[in-house]
Amino acid sequence: MIYHLGLGSNLGDPAKNLERARRFLASKGIVILRASALYRTEPVGFSGQPWFLNQVLEVETGLSPWELLNTAKTIEKRMRRRPAPPDGPRSIDIDILLAGSAVVRSPSLTVPHPKLEERNFVLVPLAEIAPGAVHPVRRANIADLLRASPDRSRVEKIEARTYTGLGAGRGARSSPAAKKRPRSG
Ligand code: AMP
Repeated sequence: MIYHLGLGSNLGDPAKNLERARRFLASKGIVILRASALYRTEPVGFSGQPWFLNQVLEVETGLSPWELLNTAKTIEKRMRRRPAPPDGPRSIDIDILLAGSAVVRSPSLTVPHPKLEERNFVLVPLAEIAPGAVHPVRRANIADLLRASPDRSRVEKIEARTYTGLGAGRGARSSPAAKKRPRSG
């Protein structure tokens, strides 16, 4: 099954944290098909904290949405030093944005992610790698949702050459997993 995951970090070395999260995902057999650039993003909701680095991944795995959520939580626990308040600073956050055309509504998991269409820090990187992906509830594609987004917070693309020194560029741009095969859905 193809999923889109949103990664975010604003504590410690965010670029390294994103790279570690990608490695953890790969170590669990989750194949990274596409990785967006890294984006420097203005915090939404919880002011007075550092800007985030965000990235969206397109992945393929046989895991169910709940199994993938558990895997994401395990990775977050291993990388997090202390609990983070909602929308507060964190070393890593992993959200399931889309699970293809599947819709999940359960107490522990909602897919598509309920705040997807109101957050530019998700929509901009998602539109970079999957502009035509259709939101199965809104019945609109990601490029259209981005155009309609009410969010005015800033989202700045980081060019590869400006972040390779932080150790993130190699993972995002040239990992064998990222090149494995073209987009398939
Ligand atoms: P947060 O740490 O703020 O991202 O919140 C994580 C909590 O949101 C987890 O305990 C999940 O059970 C719940 N959740 C609901 N839907 C999703 C989703 N699509 N992706 C990730 N977490 C989700």
